[in-house]
Amino acid sequence: TGAQVTGVRQDERAVTVTWNGGQATADLVIGADGIHSTVRRLLWPDAPSPRYLGRTAWLGVTSAVDLPGSITMGPGAYFLIHPLGGDRAYWAYVTTSPQPAVRYDDEKAEAAHRVRGWHDPIPALIAATPQEAVIHVDICDLDPLPTYVRGRVALLGDAAHAMSPDRGQGAGQSIEDAVVLAAALAGEPGLDEALRRYDAERRPRTQATVRGARADGRRSTSPALHKAMTTMIRLVPGPVWRKGLNPDGNATWRWRAPSLPAPPVHG
Ligand SMILES: Cc1cc2nc3c(=O)[nH]c(=O)nc-3n(C[C@H](O)[C@H](O)[C@H](O)COP(=O)(O)OP(=O)(O)OC[C@H]3O[C@@H](n4cnc5c(N)ncnc54)[C@H](O)[C@@H]3O)c2cc1C
Repeated sequence: TGAQVTGVRQDERAVTVTWNGGQATADLVIGADGIHSTVRRLLWPDAPSPRYLGRTAWLGVTSAVDLPGSITMGPGAYFLIHPLGGDRAYWAYVTTSPQPAVRYDDEKAEAAHRVRGWHDPIPALIAATPQEAVIHVDICDLDPLPTYVRGRVALLGDAAHAMSPDRGQGAGQSIEDAVVLAAALAGEPGLDEALRRYDAERRPRTQATVRGARADGRRSTSPALHKAMTTMIRLVPGPVWRKGLNPDGNATWRWRAPSLPAPPVHG
């Protein structure tokens, strides 16, 4: 929309949001404005800023490829390939970097340089990616907030619990937030009860996922652990890996969505 939220103020009866070009008053405001959330900065002034995790990533999307998903663990880095459907694939090269915000004149060339000598199809995949489809981002997350709710304002998604991408859970957890908040608003008698339930249900799960993703990322880019991990991958029997990947054997995927009332029929 181009609207940039700049202010949020509330009393016991309503909450008013101000943006470049207008304002609106409502019963509830949901701050789903990402890792650098303005809503969080305004209403959670003591919250820490996002934390740089010492890892940086090159990402790209390319077409005309037909590859299965895979992850390659290297010493101090990993490379992920994720098919997107059709003939497109997403790739990510993640490695350590003590300083954030280090940028290169040619990010694609830098990514290609770093995977020289890695197995096929990794170098070819980067070579086939259009220059403008390669981006370089630093990996950050958010230390735990004491609450996701202040009065009539709830934080949702990365604004509440930005996490490193090492579990592929950031967007998924944000969608879970939305479902739980909708169920609480539909099921509880009042706004206070609904927001209390939302906070109580979502904070433990999402903050545990933030911690887990942070630890996974540290492990998967640790040169010291790389050798031990590759040995373990060879030695651990397939059924044990499969148990970990099975939805019923994995706490992240075992989540059951609350039921929602049927949406109203219009017209
Ligand atoms: C490298 C990388 C890989 C990832 N891989 C995965 C993955 O495989 N699986 C997964 O589930 N997640 C993944 N994620 C995480 C995922 O991208 C995020 O968790 C998800 O996008 C969070 O959604 P959100 O809606 O909370 O925030 P965002 O997607 O950041 O959306 C926030 C929105 O708010 C808007 N906004 C911000 N400030 C204002 C303002 N003041 N006024 C108005 N609007 C504003 C922004 O423009 C934006 O549109 C990855 C993240 C990264 C960095």
